[in-house]
Amino acid sequence: MAEYLLPDSLSEATEIIAEHGRALAIVAGGTSAMRCGTCRGKHGRGILCLECPGPRLVSVPNAAFVMGIQRLGLDGVAPANGGLGFGAGLSLSRLQASAPIPALRAAARQVGGPALRNMATVGGNIFERQPYGDVAVVLLALDASLTFAERDGERSQTLAAFYADGAKQGGLLTRIDCAAPDGEVVFLKCGRRRFNSPTVVTVAVCIALDGGKVRRARIALGGAGAHPMRCAAAEELLIGAALDPTSIAAAAAAAADACDPATDVVASEWYRRRMVATYVRRALGEIEQGS
Ligand SMILES: Cc1cc2nc3c(=O)[nH]c(=O)nc-3n(C[C@H](O)[C@H](O)[C@H](O)COP(=O)(O)OP(=O)(O)OC[C@H]3O[C@@H](n4cnc5c(N)ncnc54)[C@H](O)[C@@H]3O)c2cc1C
Repeated sequence: MAEYLLPDSLSEATEIIAEHGRALAIVAGGTSAMRCGTCRGKHGRGILCLECPGPRLVSVPNAAFVMGIQRLGLDGVAPANGGLGFGAGLSLSRLQASAPIPALRAAARQVGGPALRNMATVGGNIFERQPYGDVAVVLLALDASLTFAERDGERSQTLAAFYADGAKQGGLLTRIDCAAPDGEVVFLKCGRRRFNSPTVVTVAVCIALDGGKVRRARIALGGAGAHPMRCAAAEELLIGAALDPTSIAAAAAAAADACDPATDVVASEWYRRRMVATYVRRALGEIEQGS
């Protein structure tokens, strides 16, 4: 049986992390940290273990210590420097209700059902196993940065660097910040149903146009690799080009080439790759039509 720890302050929490190391599991909303009771977490976590065909039971994390973050005051919204800033413990319901960027609200709305969103947090979504992480994909397109609390102070890292590094960094995520978007942001999710659906792939794009040409492009994909990923090949093709059907088709093809999706019970690698092309094309098409 794991020992449940509920620190009241960040300093207490970082002491607990330093003391227990890998024997400690951090739990925010707990919607995913609970491991699948059938495969014991070997394949998946949470109520919906995507790879386990057996009955879907739930057990607590198989760690000696479990630390809840509810009392750390990480659920606030505090914009910094005209941008967007919020605590890692902000629930997806509150993000859906309060985020000033429509694409971020749309992504939060797409995660599970209302009961799940009341519990699930933005921080938890960043650590989520693929193909999940719908909100994280928009944050990646917004070039968000993460702040981790450590015993010796704080450490910041961009979300892009965090994923490029294999999302290995442990520690307590406290804040997520991003600048006000410079351009149009569109988020689209491919699922089996319109809402409350497991993710096939997600696409978020942030495009700044100048005189009809693309000045800045950020294209983020979910369900298309081991972690949410930026698609540099597609971004480079767009920069300096007019946003038209030709450049959009080239970027969509480059994204499909560059991704490396997995096969699971929701979709095959083959289907995901094709949906990456389709949804990148749709997302960029929305921006083209609005420009
Ligand atoms: C039925 C169901 C449907 C789902 N549908 C979707 C979906 O459509 N889209 C989607 O994106 N996700 C989906 N999920 C996955 C998941 O619930 C969410 O992604 C959620 O955001 C996880 O947040 P949480 O606060 O519950 O995280 P937890 O379960 O508490 O934690 C998840 C992981 O993050 C780590 N963690 C959490 N917070 C911190 C922190 N502050 N610092 C360090 N580590 C931290 C934990 O240690 C753990 O490893 C679904 C899950 C279920 C059970």
